[in-house]
Amino acid sequence: CERDEYQPEFLQAVKEFLDTIEPALDKHPEWIDQNILGRILEPEKILQFRVPWVTDEGKAEVNRGFRVQFNSAIGPYKGGLRFHPTVNQSIIKFLGFEQIFKNSLTGLPIGGGKGGSDFNPKGKSDAEIMRFCQSFMTELQKYIGPDIDVPAGDIGVGAREIGYLFGQYKRLNGFQNGVLTGKPLLYGGSLGRTEATGYGLVYFTKAMIEDAGKSFKGQKVMVSGSGNVAQYAIEKVTAFGGTVIGCSDSNGYIIDEKGIRLETIKHLKEVKRERIKEYAEIHREANYYEGNIWDHEIAFDIALPCATQNEIMKEQAEKLIAQGVFAVAEGANMPSDLDSIQLYKKAGLLYGPAKAANAGGVAVSALEMSQNSQRLSWSFEEVDSQLKEIMQQIYQKVRDTAAQYGYPGDFTLGANIAGFEKVAQAMLTQGII
Ligand code: NDP
Repeated sequence: CERDEYQPEFLQAVKEFLDTIEPALDKHPEWIDQNILGRILEPEKILQFRVPWVTDEGKAEVNRGFRVQFNSAIGPYKGGLRFHPTVNQSIIKFLGFEQIFKNSLTGLPIGGGKGGSDFNPKGKSDAEIMRFCQSFMTELQKYIGPDIDVPAGDIGVGAREIGYLFGQYKRLNGFQNGVLTGKPLLYGGSLGRTEATGYGLVYFTKAMIEDAGKSFKGQKVMVSGSGNVAQYAIEKVTAFGGTVIGCSDSNGYIIDEKGIRLETIKHLKEVKRERIKEYAEIHREANYYEGNIWDHEIAFDIALPCATQNEIMKEQAEKLIAQGVFAVAEGANMPSDLDSIQLYKKAGLLYGPAKAANAGGVAVSALEMSQNSQRLSWSFEEVDSQLKEIMQQIYQKVRDTAAQYGYPGDFTLGANIAGFEKVAQAMLTQGII
């Protein structure tokens, strides 16, 4: 990792992992002999490429495209594409690294990968988004395929972008719908994929808090973000009897103690593509504030960070604990920094780390791949019941692994070791590659 000293997010993800896996290494000296760790920390392949595109005014722009194919020990690379100006190799490597263990935890045959671009979709016209996606896919298509590497969405990549990416892949390679997941239902998308990460997060959280004798009923819940993951987390928490009192975007947040009205959020974000600030214009009893939602001082019970990495640092974690939060479960990837995780542990909070709690999206993506291979579409109920089952199993696996290694309640350790064990064993059987 000394070679990666300028990749802070990647190093943070690696440190969080290494800090917990020693008990597993003690039990498996053969993993040390075969340098499994040294090999797992090194991506199998990193692609970086130029993405030229033309604005509506005819100006030539250029962005960077990335795909990290991190580990294929248990299946084809699988992981989303992120379009956001902060994207760089460190961000994509941290996401790809976490994806290895997350995908392993789902119990499904998928390896770890991630990709994206520093392209900023905000303020771009539909035609500009299309031209960008076509240019991005013109290069990426050389390296992906239904049995090789199967990208999906992430921040800034939703149904619209997946449609344009798929169109360009098809134009160059013919119709192979298993090459991307998160597709529209019209050509091989799965019912329940849009909802899967948010719903899955809440299924995981439900299992975790019920094990501690609590439920969502009557709990005040704070959700950050207002995108795909946040929206469906809000919906499911509300269905389980909790009240979501706040959500956010990258400019600020709203607090609505009556409970966030999801229809308004969906309309603002998906139809009008507006800022969340507008919510307080529509619902006068709600208040809008600039800044980070986790800095707001108000008592609540459960925190579901669903926006981005490092949104909760030490200062915010201290606030959450002082405000009476008893559970944190992560919809976003790495939303809590290393200090925050230590603080949660010290305060005895129930803590569901991202690689376990937000695995529902990729799990249903793998179910989409199965449906594509079968050339069948399953009902929403079928997919949702499999998702529920998978999230419960992930929770149990994480809990039982932590206990088995002598650290009951340490779900970070449980998730890292349970995810790692399967990949390490697979790598061991495949020789030094
Ligand atoms: P979306 O693009 O749909 O939504 C992202 C939300 O987070 C938006 O509200 C956005 O605000 C906000 N946000 C983004 N960047 C920042 C920032 N730097 N500071 C504050 N707020 C920010 O993405 P998703 O909902 O798909 O993804 C959210 C998180 O969940 C990410 O960490 C992603 O990796 C993770 N995840 C997503 C999965 C999926 O299936 N979609 C699967 C597993 C994890 P604004 O609109 O202002 O940009």
